[in-house]
Amino acid sequence: MRILATDGTVLRDWRPRPDDRANPEIDRGQLRDLLLGPLDVQWGRDVTQVVPGTRDDDGVLVHFTDGRQETFDLVVGADGAWSRGRPAVSPVTPHYTGVTSVETSLDDVDTRHPDLARLIGDGSMAVYGVNRALVAQRNSGGHVKVYAQFRAPLAWHANLDPTDTEAVRSSLLTLFDGWATPVLDLLRHGTAFVHRPLYVLPVSHTWTHVPGVTLLGDAAHLMPPLGAGANLALLEGAELAESIAAGPEDLDETIRAFEEQMWARAGKWAKITTAGLKRLVSPDPAEALALFDQVQPS
Ligand SMILES: Cc1cc2nc3c(=O)[nH]c(=O)nc-3n(C[C@H](O)[C@H](O)[C@H](O)COP(=O)(O)OP(=O)(O)OC[C@H]3O[C@@H](n4cnc5c(N)ncnc54)[C@H](O)[C@@H]3O)c2cc1C
Repeated sequence: MRILATDGTVLRDWRPRPDDRANPEIDRGQLRDLLLGPLDVQWGRDVTQVVPGTRDDDGVLVHFTDGRQETFDLVVGADGAWSRGRPAVSPVTPHYTGVTSVETSLDDVDTRHPDLARLIGDGSMAVYGVNRALVAQRNSGGHVKVYAQFRAPLAWHANLDPTDTEAVRSSLLTLFDGWATPVLDLLRHGTAFVHRPLYVLPVSHTWTHVPGVTLLGDAAHLMPPLGAGANLALLEGAELAESIAAGPEDLDETIRAFEEQMWARAGKWAKITTAGLKRLVSPDPAEALALFDQVQPS
């Protein structure tokens, strides 16, 4: 992990020790293939609505976009920020944090952009300015993801066609005007831009237990993307599966216990990441550095 000042000066450069196993990384597509490869997943059957039964033995009715309906003993809404499972247990919807992230990427960086490859190093690189941040993260195969993050109203791009790559690039370069040339080259060489306003659910979002339906991951506790969300979703999926498989307790009791454990842990992370986002995209860039100094091993 490297931190640079907006003029390109390297402020921090943390390298893993040979025995350091604290922050393993894997590309999401690779992990998904490892986990889902052996399973019979029915792709392209989006859920439109989840309707809990009115009696204990009714089952939960799920409506799909293809018009079909099926009843299940248990429905786990692991369907992300805009979950279709969530309305079955909670009326709460995500709200905008005031921070927008625009994502781009570089391909074959070691060959096509060797200077940027050196700038980024083997892991991630971040630059923090006033209410702005630029983060580059190396994936496998010479692919680099770049996130331009900034405080802005939701409609900041009202006069911008989000599919017009050059127009988005030019408005980002204006937003980050004055930053060092090598840093801005991350935006100059980025391919397509994806607009991701950052939404969150309220910290410590819980709900009154509904038999036969639960949520996990972002559907349950969408929080700022500061390194916790994917890990929590994976852990919760594993814990829920293990506790159901361990049986033979009452399924509903198992789900209640799972929810209590998830809420307690996710609530802590939602607080940490909410406070973290305030410091990382803040009027005082020294806050971001101080946050990293707190969490990185010396
Ligand atoms: C820019 C950015 C960077 C991030 N970086 C990190 C990081 O470094 N570390 C980290 O831990 N987290 C990070 N996160 C957060 C992380 O991506 C999420 O917390 C995580 O993906 C949540 O997993 P999930 O399975 O709950 O939801 P998702 O990953 O959103 O998966 C939901 C799934 O449900 C499917 N789905 C959606 N709607 C329906 C429907 N109606 N019917 C059927 N299926 C549906 C979707 O296609 C998707 O496959 C980042 C997020 C962002 C935006």
